[in-house]
Amino acid sequence: AKRAGRGRFRVFETGMDAALRDRRELEIDLRRASALKQFDVHYQPFVDLYTNRVIGFEALIRWDHPVRGRVSPVDFIPLAEETGLICKIGEWVLRTACATAMTWPEEMTVAVNISPVQFRSDALVQTVLSALAHSGLPAHRLEIEITEGALLENTANVLATLHALRDLGIKISMDDFGTGYSSLSYLQKFPFNKIKIDRSFVQGADEGGDSEAILKAIAGLGLSLGMAITAEGVETQEQLARIRSEQCTHVQGYFTGRPMSADSISTFLSA
Ligand code: C2E
Ligand code: CA
Ligand code: CA
Ligand code: CA
Repeated sequence: AKRAGRGRFRVFETGMDAALRDRRELEIDLRRASALKQFDVHYQPFVDLYTNRVIGFEALIRWDHPVRGRVSPVDFIPLAEETGLICKIGEWVLRTACATAMTWPEEMTVAVNISPVQFRSDALVQTVLSALAHSGLPAHRLEIEITEGALLENTANVLATLHALRDLGIKISMDDFGTGYSSLSYLQKFPFNKIKIDRSFVQGADEGGDSEAILKAIAGLGLSLGMAITAEGVETQEQLARIRSEQCTHVQGYFTGRPMSADSISTFLSA
């Protein structure tokens, strides 16, 4: 009787209650996912527009939930951040990515996303050092991607962390540039090697107008500051031609390669 009652109650649940319950369930599953080996890392190539060669891959986490199927990182990374689980998950991604990159041709780099929560943790530099030592990957083959969210508070600490990473020889990319709280002064204040232009500007530029102007401006700025510029989300020949003419230095998008499993990389590279 109790079961039936609960079942009936669910029908009248408000959307809010259902969302909360869903979130709690997802959180419980997320806590278990590492132990159950439900995470995987996929890798998306980035191409140098000067040589037209693949020069590295971005590591992107995948979660295969036993019931929900594949859950997008867009949906579970925020939850992992709120619960602090991101530090453990992020460390696992970093170690996995460094170890995988050791199986690639020697000059190729791997880029790893670091959440603002992870970035602010005291353990970050130590964690990175340990992943490098453990895998044997030379520091110059590792890139770290951070978003503006990592730069908002405590400039002194942020600078100290960025310089510590740079001193090790690690490259640092400003991810999703142009979205969120973007401030041009960040590019001057913090030691980035690369700017990644968010795909909304790349794809929006198809219609001309503001997105195209912003794309042009960011690329021009990066160029004059001596930074590499990656255009994200390039899906078509036309978009590739445009970002080339805007003097972007690198491209990443479905057109040049979708994220793929570690096992598919050698086939992809020899194709
Ligand atoms: P991001 O760092 O901006 O990564 C690029 C996202 O764009 C990836 O989505 C990628 O699959 C997608 N993408 C690449 N090329 C194209 C394209 O041509 N068209 C379209 N429509 N999409 C494209 P994904 O893998 O779903 O990841 C989403 C976001 O989740 C990432 O955005 C990043 O913010 C976060 N994320 C993924 N893996 C990790 C991780 O290991 N750690 C952390 N902290 N965040 C991660
Ligand atoms: Ca990224
Ligand atoms: Ca991005
Ligand atoms: Ca993004």
